[in-house]
Amino acid sequence: MSQSSITTAACPNCGKEMEFKLWQTINTETENAREDIISGALFDFTCPECGNVARIQYPILFNDLENNVWIWCYPEDATEEIMPVIKAAKAKGVTCRLVHYQEALSEKAAIFKLGMDDRIIELMKLAAGAQVTEIMSGCELGPIVFALNKEQQPCFLFKVDGKTNFMDMSLEEYEEFKRIFGALLADDDSLVIDARWVMGFMQGGTAVESDA
Ligand SMILES: [Zn+2]
Repeated sequence: MSQSSITTAACPNCGKEMEFKLWQTINTETENAREDIISGALFDFTCPECGNVARIQYPILFNDLENNVWIWCYPEDATEEIMPVIKAAKAKGVTCRLVHYQEALSEKAAIFKLGMDDRIIELMKLAAGAQVTEIMSGCELGPIVFALNKEQQPCFLFKVDGKTNFMDMSLEEYEEFKRIFGALLADDDSLVIDARWVMGFMQGGTAVESDA
């Protein structure tokens, strides 16, 4: 069930009080929910007075009913309160994810829209980062982000020396990563899948290999 409430805040541009619709929970049965989360439009508020568009971060749960995935976007210091709900959802076989920023929620929503595994995507981002660093040695590479291009095909966005670039994501490579890492990931029920998770996973993988 989707749940929302109306709140008021001052426009950051002109100071006029305006009303926002905040979603506590939104699911894929609500029209455009997924698309508005991916684009970020769900978090954009247009001031009726001056037309200024402000993007507001707030805690939200996105239920992707089609893929049986629940994604919480909560500040790090407020995650304790949602742990019982997460535990109950996990027990029901729901794939649960926790992110702390709206941009990360958008990225996850795009990954699950394609029915993909975000853990494989993190592994691919790591490999893509290594590739870019090799080609553009000496440049400063920002974080790599999964996104959908105009044709709704998967790609990676990244900044080199402050400029945004993108590269197409190969579906063959995705399948290849799944084949290599699928068995290792089977027992992993991590809630937070991000750059830190992938480093930990790779270190664990290395340790297993060196034992053999
Ligand atoms: Zn305004």
